[in-house]
Amino acid sequence: DSRIARITSAIRVIPDFPKPGILFQDITTLLLDPVAFKDTIDLFVERYKDKDISVVAGVEARGFIFGPPIALAIGAKFVPMRKPNKLPGAVISEEYSLEYGTDKIEMHVGAVQEGERALVIDDLIATGGTLCAAISLLERVGVKVVECACVIELPELKVPYSHRSGEIRRQATVC
Ligand code: IMP
Repeated sequence: DSRIARITSAIRVIPDFPKPGILFQDITTLLLDPVAFKDTIDLFVERYKDKDISVVAGVEARGFIFGPPIALAIGAKFVPMRKPNKLPGAVISEEYSLEYGTDKIEMHVGAVQEGERALVIDDLIATGGTLCAAISLLERVGVKVVECACVIELPELKVPYSHRSGEIRRQATVC
């Protein structure tokens, strides 16, 4: 797809951020290019529009940028999956491991109903830990996670993921 080259070149790579040795994929430059940004959303919408998806769950923070336009275009609701202690109502939460320590994501109780079909969106998949936590949270309340989709996959971590076996199945990474 010719749109992918433009999207790829609109993403800036910054070495040694946030710490030495990390090559940070910066999607803020993609947002500055309205054609490439729209192409990104369109690619996801084309893939998900006829999949009977009623929930788009976006992972904080950059899933909040890509998730809502996809949700509006496919006629689904948008559900934010937030860092701890940000949501004002009752929440359910899921802890997950980081390289050092743990983190947590939270979702409002009642945001989704048992039996709904969800798409999970984030900007980037590295180890898949964040997306695994998002899947667990949704599955705990009886939601079917149809797919997870990210704009970027870190090439050095390309492995065959399968969320059925406890990891993520990377089915729809754009770049
Ligand atoms: P994972 O849980 O190891 O797959 O890491 C994915 C999470 O880390 C996502 O929420 C990303 O937003 C964030 N992340 C990791 N590396 C980068 C990066 O280079 N650019 C932007 N986000 C990153």
